[in-house]
Amino acid sequence: MQRQSRDPFDASTIPDDLAPIATKLSTMLPGDWRSLRPVIDRLKCVKCGLCWLYCPVQCVVEKPRWFEFDLAVCKGCGICAQECPHRAISMIEEAGR
Ligand code: SF4
Ligand code: SF4
Repeated sequence: MQRQSRDPFDASTIPDDLAPIATKLSTMLPGDWRSLRPVIDRLKCVKCGLCWLYCPVQCVVEKPRWFEFDLAVCKGCGICAQECPHRAISMIEEAGR
């Protein structure tokens, strides 16, 4: 039977050290490498929910009277602080790392 397609290349010719390939899942979360963290001023927050809406990783958590951040998941991008219409969120540097 005639072969219809050929392998594009011989995989055994790829050098082992061409690029690292992950073989295990990392347990690292964004909170392990983030350089800035959001801090909310509860007196300024009017609970409009825009930070919750704009957070790209959905780590803004609604509490009965305000919003908080899940700091294990927050990556410190600052979008919430940028979008807050009442400037209730400040981005502060992570310390002690
Ligand atoms: S966007 Fe600002 S004012 Fe609105 S809920 Fe978030 S922190 Fe509060
Ligand atoms: S800093 Fe970025 S990831 Fe963290 S809560 Fe704000 S929008 Fe979400």
